[in-house]
Amino acid sequence: MPVYTYRHVDEKEADCGHFPTFVWEQPAKDWPLTKCPWCERPVERVIEAALIKVKKFDCELRDKGFTKLVRVDEGVFENRTRRSGEEKYVDRHRPETFPILEKTIED
Ligand SMILES: [Zn+2]
Repeated sequence: MPVYTYRHVDEKEADCGHFPTFVWEQPAKDWPLTKCPWCERPVERVIEAALIKVKKFDCELRDKGFTKLVRVDEGVFENRTRRSGEEKYVDRHRPETFPILEKTIED
């Protein structure tokens, strides 16, 4: 089970023995705690930096309707979320190479 870090929201010190932060083990699907299990004062979950930087795979971005262009040269971008019918490289001066928006917003 994942372990989360919680922080008391109050600046005033709580005497529950778990101030200011504590760790709490809970299933990922559970709602975050809102109250300290010991003193019942309000707490908030601390978002760990590692959790924010979840790498999105290009295919996942594409499935969500995003287009990811990576610059390879002056005015030239590699289309990392290329859909069928799209060019691998997008050239600023060649509109026919631009991502096909109809494909990304069809639903
Ligand atoms: Zn507490």
